[in-house]
Amino acid sequence: MKFQAPIGTEEERNSGKIWPGGWTDATGFLNAKAPGYAYGIHTGADLNLNVAGNWDADRLAPVYSIGDGIVTYAQTWPNPNYWGNIIVIDHGMVDGKPLYSRYAHVANIRVRPGEVVKMGQQICQVGDGSSAIRPKAMFPFHLHFDISYTKILREQPQNWPAPSTNKNKALVIEHYVDPEKWLKEHHTVESLPKAISGNTTSSESEAPTNTPPRSNIAPSLPTWYVIAPEVTIYKQPNTTSQKSGSLSRGKQIFMSTGGVRNQGMDWGKIVGSTFEGDWVAIRKSDQSESYLSTNRPQ
Ligand SMILES: [Zn+2]
Repeated sequence: MKFQAPIGTEEERNSGKIWPGGWTDATGFLNAKAPGYAYGIHTGADLNLNVAGNWDADRLAPVYSIGDGIVTYAQTWPNPNYWGNIIVIDHGMVDGKPLYSRYAHVANIRVRPGEVVKMGQQICQVGDGSSAIRPKAMFPFHLHFDISYTKILREQPQNWPAPSTNKNKALVIEHYVDPEKWLKEHHTVESLPKAISGNTTSSESEAPTNTPPRSNIAPSLPTWYVIAPEVTIYKQPNTTSQKSGSLSRGKQIFMSTGGVRNQGMDWGKIVGSTFEGDWVAIRKSDQSESYLSTNRPQ
């Protein structure tokens, strides 16, 4: 199981230094040092790159997924006064618990909900909280970055315990971990020669090199592709229920195993995207017409 820092050059991210290169955390986990954060308990890190006194050296720097996973949220938070753009990634079960990472105030989102991402894959750029619904900067350029060991970010991508109270501090401790400490513990230095890692006393270095892939992450579900020009997503498996959106041809999604037959159609329940728990028609039950396929359309 391998994780990397979300920022820095490839060499820096492989080096094992958290935070890599010239990056620093301007706020700190659980802290409310910066005046702007006095309204809440900080859930993660505020990553800044300062080069020769220029705090905007991180402007539009690439942001990478810290590990393999599935994007569960990737859009502007609808309230223009909070967050700007947010990406949340589901990394499956880690240490026996669900693991999610959040990247906020970002620019130029490159991934979509339901998309499978790899460790080190660029997902966006460092932003300033501005977005399509708020063209003006909300913060100096920095990456707000969190790691959560619960499903809170799947249910609430915008989660932010505020104001600064002991009760809210307890909530942060319940749902989040210190991302710097966590990444130091879970970073794997792949580039080190075996002879060097063999000299360490860590029991991790004794681990077999051919560890099986994680089986409990949703990528074990087959990927479905939209093959109709467009499909509508519904709250329930029927076309008279509330519509929650649509997906165009070529879009990929995951669906839980099993489905329901209703209105002459076979329906699947979506997992791992903003449409989590919603329904989409896969095909006509008599198989005369299909809307989704496990084969990517040509
Ligand atoms: Zn922050």
